[in-house]
Amino acid sequence: MQTKEVSLPEKKRIVLVAHDNKKKALLEWAKYNKGTLSKHILFATGTTGKLLQTELGLEINRFLSGPLGGDQQIGAKIAEGEMDVVIFFWDPLEPQPHDVDVKALLRIAVVYNVPIACNRSSADFIVSSSLMSSEYSRIVEDYERK
Ligand code: PGA
Repeated sequence: MQTKEVSLPEKKRIVLVAHDNKKKALLEWAKYNKGTLSKHILFATGTTGKLLQTELGLEINRFLSGPLGGDQQIGAKIAEGEMDVVIFFWDPLEPQPHDVDVKALLRIAVVYNVPIACNRSSADFIVSSSLMSSEYSRIVEDYERK
């Protein structure tokens, strides 16, 4: 399989998603990291985005709510090369009505080698990385040249 490099800009497009039982944790994490997050372009699913806007005053581009197609919208953006980092606090202890969409989002993030944090400590490692404030070349498989 051939590969190609995709450049991640200094100012990254970060999407934040939290399932209901994880929204409090994401809000706390985003509050703590507000300074760093506000240097980037932020996206979120519907309810998560509304909370981040109203509670923290962050400027957020909102997709649909997760169960109504928001996860699929994010997956499409990743496939089109329009998302650089995913912070996805999904709930491992409760079944979700849109479980297949959650799985699809996790899969597509791996396919495109997009950095994805699914819990708080991984999110800490990503947000504190020096790569957050510099350009980075993401290596992806190039299906057109295989
Ligand atoms: P929400 O969606 O932010 O609209 O709650 C998140 C999800 O359940 O995927």
